Amino acid sequence: MRYILVIGDGMADDPTSVLGGKTPLESVDTPVMDRLSAGGVLGSVWNCPQEFPAGSDTAILSIFGCDPRVCYTGRAPLEAAAQGVRLRPGDLAFRCNMASLEEGDMPFDRRRILSHSSGGIDGETSRALVEELFAHPDFRSLAEAAGLEVHPTLTYRHICVQAQGDPKGLVLSPPHDHLNEVCGPYLPHGSANAEVLRGLMEKSFEILRKLPANLQRQAEGKLPANCIWFWAEGTAVELPNFPARYGKRGAVISAVPLCHGIAALTGLDRIEVPGATGEKDTNYRGKAEYAVRALLEQGFDFVGIHVEAPDECTHNGDTPGKLESIAAIDREVLGTLTEKLAGEDYRILVLSDHKTLTDTRGHAYGYVPFLLYDSRGGEASGLAYTEANGLLGPHVENGTALMDLLFQTEAKA
Ligand SMILES: [Zn+2]
Repeated sequence: MRYILVIGDGMADDPTSVLGGKTPLESVDTPVMDRLSAGGVLGSVWNCPQEFPAGSDTAILSIFGCDPRVCYTGRAPLEAAAQGVRLRPGDLAFRCNMASLEEGDMPFDRRRILSHSSGGIDGETSRALVEELFAHPDFRSLAEAAGLEVHPTLTYRHICVQAQGDPKGLVLSPPHDHLNEVCGPYLPHGSANAEVLRGLMEKSFEILRKLPANLQRQAEGKLPANCIWFWAEGTAVELPNFPARYGKRGAVISAVPLCHGIAALTGLDRIEVPGATGEKDTNYRGKAEYAVRALLEQGFDFVGIHVEAPDECTHNGDTPGKLESIAAIDREVLGTLTEKLAGEDYRILVLSDHKTLTDTRGHAYGYVPFLLYDSRGGEASGLAYTEANGLLGPHVENGTALMDLLFQTEAKA
């Protein structure tokens, strides 16, 4: 038996006037998803415990069977693990986004947040800019005094680790939840350490906006990557071992460090797919082909495929992109999987981790639809994969039960 998980990040939504009162899942033709859903179990699951902000970190932890209420310290430690960065006791990790704030003459805290990703900046430029920033004498002295080190990535999502960083009282905000808002209320606040981090962000703006790569981006009509943005703080974390718990050898395919980190910390392998970008131009088909190879040729029992594109498109206000990426998940990911696994026994779980709303461009709590299909037959819902149809089926109150459903194992308390 082969087991497959497909997460369409932020695919679920609410009905929106932009789409004539429908959700994106209701608006796009998704024949494969609908066939699997009609021929399998269709239900609803709640992945993000309400004591945490709604987001992929807690949602995907839940999906992989790790209860965020037990093991979540923050998002950045998971991403640090993806880079092989081991946190020491007392270390505090942050996400350090390359973001874009409004240019012009206003004070720093009156600038609007134009992008949490500097308009989906390319990895090479993003890494070069953050390295140049941390090497700049004016910035380096402040960073050293704060005990802060950067671990650059080839995306807009860098990681910082602060030795003996004090998380008490510190309030940081995810920039993608406050797009087009004035940044002031969302800057670090609540503690002395917050003031230090805020000072670093302000200094980064002074330096980054003048760097040649940013002047060139502006000349090309692109958003300058003119500010770093700290958020997602957390201390060292340990997660339950997936192979030991479920008795399955597994691998994860994703473009985003969060999923790579969860894989590293749960004892799952990570499979790199060329052209997997985390954006709508990602290599959808490649993800499915590598998953099939892992299952049929490399001895894996389980592969989890994560596709970030629908979430990114929603944050970027790109509704056509969200629709396209859902169609591509259907055609290229699920279409390829079902075609290449024809004749094999398999069980596949397809879901959105959380809702990302077209109307707000932010995440939201709530049930999201899941489908669980077994190639050998069994329960058949007869329904297409949509949010409303999911609500008609079984309700799974806690996403941590999903792997037990997929593997048909007894849930452990
Ligand atoms: Zn998101």
